[in-house]
Amino acid sequence: MNLVIFGPPGAGKGTQSKFIVEKYKMYQLSTGEFLRNEMSNNTSIGKKISSVINSGALVSNQIVSDLIEKVISNTDYQNRIIFDGYPRNLDQAKNLDILLKKYNQKIDIVLKLSVSLKTIKKRISDRRTLEKRPDDNEEIAIKRYETYEKSTEPVIEYYKKLNLLKVVDGERPIEQINKEISEIIDLI
Ligand code: AMP
Repeated sequence: MNLVIFGPPGAGKGTQSKFIVEKYKMYQLSTGEFLRNEMSNNTSIGKKISSVINSGALVSNQIVSDLIEKVISNTDYQNRIIFDGYPRNLDQAKNLDILLKKYNQKIDIVLKLSVSLKTIKKRISDRRTLEKRPDDNEEIAIKRYETYEKSTEPVIEYYKKLNLLKVVDGERPIEQINKEISEIIDLI
């Protein structure tokens, strides 16, 4: 089983991915993390992408595609990948289908953690009180939420048409969300 997970910042995507990785022995492929590693290791790709990443824009489709192909082609991870941060646009969604097909795999489930902007604001304000993180401010949160909604909408539609989309209500307590995700995965 391969899975794609979507959710705005603050939706609990990290928490839920960790749960799925542990329970179903999956491998989480976070393209953002991969790209940040390239930068901190100062690789030739890292040098190329640092200005793009630092400006908040998207890295070229080709660079990210080459990175994910390394994972998809690795038999150690065959049929147990969680795609986190990919695809981010329609071209990437179509490319992912092509790459998976090339290695005799497919996407089985697309999970969307749905959380309202009101809840995101509350979570960030609670987290700021608890952790005093300077980057958790409401204005940035709203911007990231809007960017997420706008950029993922066509990709979500794409998976909806393919009947792969499962929308999970991310407003509920963590354990209830864990349970619903398990039920969805267990049906595969
Ligand atoms: P993230 O950690 O997922 O928020 O990603 C951090 C940054 O990495 C993004 O702002 C992009 O610059 C880059 N990035 C991550 N995933 C992709 C992707 N699928 N396509 C292009 N750029 C990406």
